[in-house]
Amino acid sequence: MSPPAAPAPAPAPAAAFDPETWRAQFPILRTEMHGRPLVYLDSAASTQKPRRVIDRLKSFYERDYANIHRGVYELSQRASALHDEARRKVQRFLGARDWREIVFVRNATEGINLVAWSFLRPKLEPGDEILVTEMEHHANIVPWQIVAGERGARVVAAPITDAGEIDLDALAERITGRTRMLAVAWVSNVLGTVNPVEEIVALARREGVPVLIDAAQAVQHRPVDVAALGCDFLVFSGHKTYGPSGVGVLYGRGELLDAMPPWQGGGDMIEKVSFAGTSFNEIPFRFEAGTPDIAGIVALGEALDFLEELDLARVERHEAALLAGAERALARIPGLRILGAPKERRSALAFTLEGAHPQDIGMLLDLEGIAIRTGHHCAMPLHARFGLSASARMSVGVYTNEADIDALTAGLRRIAAMFQ
Ligand code: PMP
Repeated sequence: MSPPAAPAPAPAPAAAFDPETWRAQFPILRTEMHGRPLVYLDSAASTQKPRRVIDRLKSFYERDYANIHRGVYELSQRASALHDEARRKVQRFLGARDWREIVFVRNATEGINLVAWSFLRPKLEPGDEILVTEMEHHANIVPWQIVAGERGARVVAAPITDAGEIDLDALAERITGRTRMLAVAWVSNVLGTVNPVEEIVALARREGVPVLIDAAQAVQHRPVDVAALGCDFLVFSGHKTYGPSGVGVLYGRGELLDAMPPWQGGGDMIEKVSFAGTSFNEIPFRFEAGTPDIAGIVALGEALDFLEELDLARVERHEAALLAGAERALARIPGLRILGAPKERRSALAFTLEGAHPQDIGMLLDLEGIAIRTGHHCAMPLHARFGLSASARMSVGVYTNEADIDALTAGLRRIAAMFQ
């Protein structure tokens, strides 16, 4: 039932820096769309998968697959050990002190829902407040609204500036004696703003307010160390970190998780069951009812090895330079408006083009093999803040190169000429 005592083996040392070698590891990037080479600029929605993650999924099913934590037979023991090892890899990737602080969920959304239902809901009273910001993804608004609505509590949004940054003074002012939770994105999925989470966590801790960091757009773009950061909870999704869809992670501080009741019942999360009553398993198993996505979890471990080998500090420098180049190139296109101007931008850049609906931009670029996201990107309040209902968004991953940015810039120039 418990992971092996030995820590997961450290990944191989970082290979020599060559982004084109990283890119070559993604088979889908050699495919064509509408007869044109695929230019994939929607990694903020989901990243593509390197060969080794695809191979790990396949080899797991071919050689190692059985249900976990159940069988005494060799194959089940092997699958269980690989699953447990993946948890150790996540622990190391996040810098968590203990593997018990790593809960496997389906995605970042489920991690936030788990905290809303199990941690927050039992404590909420009428008039209580959950503090978020105007730049949050719906996943970091709606779960809080649902539990708040049940308890007569409410969600309060701290304002952001025209530059698309959190106004820290305004955030601090909105922390009151009724604030029961602070939940903030590390990196905005629309503006790409990197929020000062160290300061935000320090503020929350000073005020005695538990804090959740939505790291769905962060952990694949920059190094993370939850123990140093000191946050209470942090979530991310496997499918945005070069792993499979259907797997996500909730990190929670051990003492907090330990005191939380289960939120779903079923197999694996129990200690003893009878019709007189049931006692529950230890963390993290208490929060993992039923058979998980075993192969997905093992392949997520492979994806995190991949990221560690690339070295996230290096990934961050590479991607930040690409985004800055994209910002300069796009800003020169007539009628193009970039949303926000944060000091630090990672992952994504959103824009509008005068006269062209974002939907049209997306469809016309698609004809050239260029994939970007259009719409509200699950951030309606953020768009309302900027007086918009939709925008277009380009986003980068480890495989993005300058040719991708050049193709997008040329495509947008053609569209700008058509609509103006
Ligand atoms: N938070 C942020 C900042 C996101 O970008 C996303 C995905 N777009 C989510 C949460 C939700 O992720 P998922 O759909 O994988 O749960």
